[in-house]
Amino acid sequence: MAFVVDSRKGQEEIRRLGLEAAYQEQISRSPNAAKMLRNATMVSGPKVIRDWSYLSTEVGGDGYALVGDAACFIDPLFSTGVHVALTAGVLGAAYVTTALKDPTMREPAARAYKELYYQHYGLFS
Ligand SMILES: Cc1cc2nc3c(=O)[nH]c(=O)nc-3n(C[C@H](O)[C@H](O)[C@H](O)COP(=O)(O)OP(=O)(O)OC[C@H]3O[C@@H](n4cnc5c(N)ncnc54)[C@H](O)[C@@H]3O)c2cc1C
Repeated sequence: MAFVVDSRKGQEEIRRLGLEAAYQEQISRSPNAAKMLRNATMVSGPKVIRDWSYLSTEVGGDGYALVGDAACFIDPLFSTGVHVALTAGVLGAAYVTTALKDPTMREPAARAYKELYYQHYGLFS
């Protein structure tokens, strides 16, 4: 279970309570999360990640196509991940179908997929 929090408030809370207690505090503020985690056991301590975005240098090639978080991720605060992943599913399906139907189209289709994917990522990053 992960929480996206305001950077300044999150840092203050972690300084005041410690990371694990700050994490538990976030859970207790969310009744649904607390209910789901009622019987859960934490197997490793919570971690903090900030400004977390990435874009793969390649999204398709011989025998593979990357979609969704495998290809890129934009800070969850912007709430774009599901939209980007679903769009990539549509673009990726067109890329894979084209490459399978006509092997001579593999490289141009891979280039078009990458270009469209990067354009889409650029809209939100
Ligand atoms: C804290 C947080 C908050 C977020 N908030 C939002 C938000 O508000 N709005 C939004 O749009 N996005 C949000 N995102 C981003 C969004 O969740 C992701 O970008 C999106 O789910 C990516 O979809 P995906 O299909 O690529 O990956 P996932 O949704 O991660 O799906 C991958 C699936 O593959 C499965 N899997 C992994 N390995 C294997 C394997 N070897 N074999 C079979 N299956 C496997 C996994 O179990 C998982 O079900 C948030 C992300 C985080 C971390």
